[in-house]
Amino acid sequence: MAQKKVEQLYEILSKTYLTFKEVENEWEDNGLSSTPFKSLVSVMLSTMTHTKRVIKAANALYAEVSTPQELLHLPDEHLTELIRPVAHYNRKTQHLKEMCRQLLERHGGEVPHTRAELLALQGVGRKCVDIMMNFTFGAPAIAVDTHVFRVLNRVGIVHTESQVVAADEINRLTPDRFKQHAHEWLIQHGGKVCIARKPKCDECPLTQLCDYYQHVGAA
Ligand code: SF4
Repeated sequence: MAQKKVEQLYEILSKTYLTFKEVENEWEDNGLSSTPFKSLVSVMLSTMTHTKRVIKAANALYAEVSTPQELLHLPDEHLTELIRPVAHYNRKTQHLKEMCRQLLERHGGEVPHTRAELLALQGVGRKCVDIMMNFTFGAPAIAVDTHVFRVLNRVGIVHTESQVVAADEINRLTPDRFKQHAHEWLIQHGGKVCIARKPKCDECPLTQLCDYYQHVGAA
């Protein structure tokens, strides 16, 4: 049942939204993922932070550094100033420094390509790993952020308060043919239609599938 629902969801979303490569992408346009190292740093900066603020911090940072060695040479206070636009900038300063040390010690300064090696880096969580695997290394992985998490729970594909559990479940249920772009469709839907405060169910193509709509939205 859940499997059928997931397939129907993607059939609809894939006809509703373009992929990131087909639309203007401010992340790409600003060079936030021009190298695997910048991709990893940008993703770490993005936790709990709006894209505009990530771009501001990343532009300031990448004007001075583009390698782990260069980032490690920045004094902590200066790094903190550069990334001050993002949430938890003090903690992220420490995480970025330690992550760069680990890249140099364990991987010769290169960003590793496996899930286990990425997850072992300081400050790199499950969502960061899925984003890196999907967008940097082209793997069929679905990253679950707050938008994706909200959509999946409202539609009723998952019933959980854990983004990690939701990520396991949606990656298990999603047919391979949809995995490459699933995150892109779901995040657009969560950002444009199934928004946090009041979902725009009147504009939504998923009403027939959606548990929230059946129980609350249609009332
Ligand atoms: S019907 Fe409403 S709650 Fe359900 S996915 Fe669409 S916008 Fe979200």
